[in-house]
Amino acid sequence: MATSGFNAFEMAQAQFDKVADILQLEESVRDILRQPMREYHFNIPVHMDDGKVKVFRGFRVQHNDARGPGKGGIRFHPQETVDTVRALAMWMTWKCSVVNIPLGGSKGGVICDPHNLSMREQELLCRGWVRQLAKDVGPLNDVPAPDVMTSPQHMLWMLDEFEAISGAKYPGFITGKPVGMGGSLGRTEATGYGVVYTIREALKLMNVKPEETFASVQGFGNVSQYAIQLYQRLGGKVVCVSSWDQQDQKSYAFRRDVGVDLEELQRITDRFGGVDKEKAQSLGYEVLDGDAWIEQDVDILIPAALENQINKTTVEKVSDRVKIVAEGANGPTTPEADAILEERGVYVIPDFLANAGGVTCSYFEQVQCNMNYFWEKEETLTRLDTKMTSAFHEVHELAKKRDLFMRDAAYVIAVKRVAQACKDRAWA
Ligand code: NAD
Repeated sequence: MATSGFNAFEMAQAQFDKVADILQLEESVRDILRQPMREYHFNIPVHMDDGKVKVFRGFRVQHNDARGPGKGGIRFHPQETVDTVRALAMWMTWKCSVVNIPLGGSKGGVICDPHNLSMREQELLCRGWVRQLAKDVGPLNDVPAPDVMTSPQHMLWMLDEFEAISGAKYPGFITGKPVGMGGSLGRTEATGYGVVYTIREALKLMNVKPEETFASVQGFGNVSQYAIQLYQRLGGKVVCVSSWDQQDQKSYAFRRDVGVDLEELQRITDRFGGVDKEKAQSLGYEVLDGDAWIEQDVDILIPAALENQINKTTVEKVSDRVKIVAEGANGPTTPEADAILEERGVYVIPDFLANAGGVTCSYFEQVQCNMNYFWEKEETLTRLDTKMTSAFHEVHELAKKRDLFMRDAAYVIAVKRVAQACKDRAWA
């Protein structure tokens, strides 16, 4: 999404350039990895409920598929920009690579606000998106998934359209489908739980017990809610969450010193992750300005909403007590803020490692669809934990060995694998 003066793709390229220098990558490898391989920009006409036709702008960016079919979500957002989609596609390439799953990186988006669309209009938008791209996406080349403001229902409409066009069943065309319709148990929890698996491992390395820690979380959507659930099960306390208020068009933070009650907050939250501020106030939450989540006196910060949230201005508000920043969102920390966190010795678990649980479980969903045999939830989550924990330690070991910031270590591992795949295929 566009946030003023911030370009996510420039940030993704700056991060890549830094690691390309560390790895001393050849010019041809830099050229192929610095830009998306392909991108599609298209119009989606929708016959609206009022009888008029409205044209929406859609995108799909395929950054790199040297290691396997592209993989990446589709966002519905009024401020979506193609540069954000490009950045997210590039981060997907690194994410699949760092957890070592045989997939590449893609991302899609539509400029729209689903709050203002009926279910029928959303269905037509989903079907229209697939009609524009049916030749260029699919189980063997590029596999979409849900992301901000898209849901399992949206995925099912997209699958249905793809299968109608293809004339056969292709459950592996898209992931994040409803359970019972080709979806995997555990997918809903996967990203948030994955964030907490990495926090748990980081705390072990620091010799700190989770039950002695406090956290503050930005966002109260899918990633945030499940991260809070598992972190609280481990004994941690979340003292603050924030969310976007659709009516006021601004964000608010909700603080309770004794810790937030997850289920109580879920009951007063809409399906887009917006907490009702009047109800929160009446339940004893302090309602603060949206930025307040970042200045809490806590051990762990979990940005789980948007990109560009910890930047050179807001980083100054981060308390000295913060030991860990676990990035649930994609691109929440800018390179300037990174440098300050690094100097302060904050342990940053970078986005494409911390939030890789979602894509890892999506990969499991494809595997299950291919077998036409579905695992129990526990089996999925155990496999997820194993994959995330092993990727986390691989990155940590490299960071320790080469005295690198965790983000740089994760990049070194991820970029090296993709660069090698490009070279092996004689693409560079
Ligand atoms: P979501 O739509 O379910 O929730 C987003 C939350 O952020 C909502 O609570 C919303 O109110 C809040 N929000 C929006 N703008 C805000 C602002 N300015 N200040 C405070 N809160 C704000 O989305 P999600 O699926 O939880 O995704 C959150 C982030 O995690 C995104 O960056 C997404 O790309 C990333 N991510 C998601 C997944 C996944 O599986 N869902 C996987 C990897 C990465």
